Amino acid sequence: MQPKIVVAGGGFAGLEALFYLRYKLGSGADLTLVSDQDYFLFKPNTIYIPFGEDPEKSKIPLARPVLKKRITFWPGRAVGVDPYSRKLLLEHAELPYDYLVLATGASMRAQEVPGLCEYACTLWTPEEMLRLRHQLQQVVERAGEGRKQDILFVVPPNNKCSGPLYELVMMIETWLQRKKVREWVQITWATYESSYIQAFGPRLHTVVSEEFADRGVEGHTGCLVSEITPDRAIFHDGSSFHFDLLVSFPPYAAGQAYADLPVDSRGFLKVEPDSRRVKGQETIFAVGDASDFPIKQAFLALLQGDAAAESIAAEIQRRVPAEKMKFEPMSMCVMEEMNKATFAQVPLRYTDDPERPVVVDDEDTEHYKVGVSPLWRGGKKILGYYLPWRFSNGEPFHAGFAWDLMDMGLKVMSKVMAD
Ligand SMILES: Cc1cc2nc3c(=O)[nH]c(=O)nc-3n(C[C@H](O)[C@H](O)[C@H](O)COP(=O)(O)OP(=O)(O)OC[C@H]3O[C@@H](n4cnc5c(N)ncnc54)[C@H](O)[C@@H]3O)c2cc1C
Repeated sequence: MQPKIVVAGGGFAGLEALFYLRYKLGSGADLTLVSDQDYFLFKPNTIYIPFGEDPEKSKIPLARPVLKKRITFWPGRAVGVDPYSRKLLLEHAELPYDYLVLATGASMRAQEVPGLCEYACTLWTPEEMLRLRHQLQQVVERAGEGRKQDILFVVPPNNKCSGPLYELVMMIETWLQRKKVREWVQITWATYESSYIQAFGPRLHTVVSEEFADRGVEGHTGCLVSEITPDRAIFHDGSSFHFDLLVSFPPYAAGQAYADLPVDSRGFLKVEPDSRRVKGQETIFAVGDASDFPIKQAFLALLQGDAAAESIAAEIQRRVPAEKMKFEPMSMCVMEEMNKATFAQVPLRYTDDPERPVVVDDEDTEHYKVGVSPLWRGGKKILGYYLPWRFSNGEPFHAGFAWDLMDMGLKVMSKVMAD
């Protein structure tokens, strides 16, 4: 009898775990994927949709990789787990498992800020990005008629991934320049963070401050939004900003509730840091945005998928998990600005402070690297081809000769174009 491994969620973390398991175990495991979508959405590329990119280009159908890797695909939603009888509960069925990987991601709680659902252009899905495209076109039309426009960006508390909103403010600023209406548009930024893109530490704060100064963006930190009216964002200290267009990335919560498993105050599954094993559970793992790691990012989701899959594969093969596959929190991203991009590799470390369980290890100067250059846009494009190519072939991001090449390329680029 082959061990039965079920993965719930076909995003970065779930697919990485699934394809790594097949890569490591070959035919020695029976793999099932449960997903409520029949495609993988490459979210980092959805930032191009407001500027004309076809939303379908960010979707990679799952049919090919699951067929190629002999994975059973079960369309539908996971709604819970019965850890006692080892079953994943679906809407109309139950799936028994020997090992379970929960990778059902996060969801948006725009309703936590009164008025945000009604009056803001939010980002999360391709549909929301299309709405932003439409609203931006209207801003350009009005500005073209000589009418002053205010675009306001707001990061509310409990947003766990502000990076894409920083990308959009820079991209929109570049785009308005190209549309020759920039002088008619005031751009204001208000974030709850105490520094810009706080999760990436002081060096990114400096980069963003300089960009905002160069681009004439009025930036504010430490702004706790309390309410949105049809044309103003109101903050806890009583201050407010007017907007014609409000763009915001809402607060995060878990994508799926799991009643019988340990979760934090926002429903994220509590796990052992190295292996991503759910606390108190021998055979259940949680990876990516669904788990309690406080920074939600694709690169971190891939690392977590690898760590969980390696722990499972090692148990099945009766060996010790490879040390290098343990989850070591190291964040990496390339922030698009449309005329250049910012690369950041950011070492993180755990603390004993429950308020800030993870901080940037800014003393680790060997690994903390930042670079700004138009050439980094090429780096982002390459990553944007590499990962969909790997996943569409049922291969994990971080494995094999292709990854060795990619890793070498990234190291060379970061040596030459970052410090
Ligand atoms: C606009 C935008 C841009 C971004 N850009 C970047 C970037 O440049 N770099 C970066 O590192 N990160 C970026 N991120 C963050 C990154 O996309 C997420 O951190 C990443 O997608 C998390 O991967 P995941 O597998 O945990 O979750 P997801 O990718 O969200 O996947 C979860 C999967 O589970 C499925 N699912 C959900 N609930 C259920 C259920 N109950 N049953 C079955 N299936 C279910 C979903 O359909 C989905 O397929 C961006 C995010 C956004 C919104």
